[in-house]
Amino acid sequence: MIWNHTKECMSREQMRDLQGRRLHKIVEYVYHNVPFYRNKLQQAGITPDDIETIDDIVRLPFTTKQDLRDNYPFGLQAAPMSEIIRIHASSGTTGNPTIVGYTRKDVGVWSECMARCLTAYGISRDDIFSVAYGYGLFTGGLGVHYGVENLGAAVVPASTGNTEKHVRLLRDLGVTGIACTPSYALHLAETMERMGVSRNDIRLRVGAFGAEPWTENMRREIEDKLGLKAYNLYGLSEIMGPCVSYECSEQDDSHICEDHYFPEIVDPETLERRPNGDVGELVFTTLTKTGMPLLRYRTRDLCTLRDDPCPCGRTAVRMGRILGRSDDMLIIRGINVFPSQIESVILSMPECAPHYRLIIDRVDNLDRLTVQVEVRQEFWANGFDTLTPITDLEKTVAARLRSVLSINAVVQIKAPGTLERFEGKAKIIQDNRKLD
Ligand code: ADP
Ligand code: ZN
Repeated sequence: MIWNHTKECMSREQMRDLQGRRLHKIVEYVYHNVPFYRNKLQQAGITPDDIETIDDIVRLPFTTKQDLRDNYPFGLQAAPMSEIIRIHASSGTTGNPTIVGYTRKDVGVWSECMARCLTAYGISRDDIFSVAYGYGLFTGGLGVHYGVENLGAAVVPASTGNTEKHVRLLRDLGVTGIACTPSYALHLAETMERMGVSRNDIRLRVGAFGAEPWTENMRREIEDKLGLKAYNLYGLSEIMGPCVSYECSEQDDSHICEDHYFPEIVDPETLERRPNGDVGELVFTTLTKTGMPLLRYRTRDLCTLRDDPCPCGRTAVRMGRILGRSDDMLIIRGINVFPSQIESVILSMPECAPHYRLIIDRVDNLDRLTVQVEVRQEFWANGFDTLTPITDLEKTVAARLRSVLSINAVVQIKAPGTLERFEGKAKIIQDNRKLD
């Protein structure tokens, strides 16, 4: 099923036309309503009339998270406060939160895009859908909530916290779909296990997971434990919230709602546009937003783009999984390390549970990476809690990390259930280095 056939399946040529017209309009809009952009455009010697096709976008200046911080809280807002009906903030994974105001039109576009995502996952009016993202300033909860209502399924606004109660709700109500972070999905599975509720006792068949990076191995793990099909859901508050891109039934990269959010991949160093297929920083221009429109916003998320046809019939460009953020990519002894690479190594080992921490210290001026990882319950129970097998496993994980990442890590195997669990975005990295 496709929610909006006209917009999701238009020819590439029609899409480019539409994007070009919308880009011209949005540049004109910010030129007249946001002093920050008027100055930037004037400095670059550009007037709105210079923007005729979508290819002209490369002439526009970039916007960064720092620009949002410098203009905190409402400096980049284009609409008057009388038009704003909702305010959210980014979760501040990498610093102070940034504030985003939405007009009624923006909230409408958001729930339209969210309905597209849910339909692509196979959700319909007949479903009962639980939203287990946090409700509040974070866009996850309310963003998905409005989409489910727009679609017409029954929304259960579970939010995070009180996981046992949530498990009972899933079971008693026969909930069929759920949205949460992938780490919360694992936490939910563990809680079910502890409560003696098996995947056959619940009716979940679709999961929409995002807000933090995850891997194919984690997808298999979640699908297996919860007995559902796990789909990727991507978004960021600066651009809208969850709904910027979504996987279809192919589960092969995520279609971008390109008629509203125009994607580019640039080299994070030179800021030059990179061709499809290259890994680089994802940049979005909001083509229709009226509350806080952004031109060429640098997401810091690293991924690839592709525009080859998808068997599902949608024509929108697809983005690959987020490989990391250009600003939280770890540099350990000069080597670029993405936490997702470490996660892949851990999850490829049958003895290791998907719960781990990465701790980076500087000892005698050298970086030291410590990887703490929990062993799975079934191995622990089988006499694993004695010294030799633990030491052996630590050595094996360390050797794998060395062969994949070319770095030496101190591996510490932990007993099941000993590392802290997260309900929102997981905080798995602790970087204790003082770099000055
Ligand atoms: P922040 O975390 O920057 O404070 P948000 O709460 O808006 O702000 O989170 C947006 C960020 O979350 C994205 O830029 C991206 O790094 C991450 N993210 C969201 N969805 C996904 C996803 N499906 N896969 C990987 N990362 C994601
Ligand atoms: Zn598709």
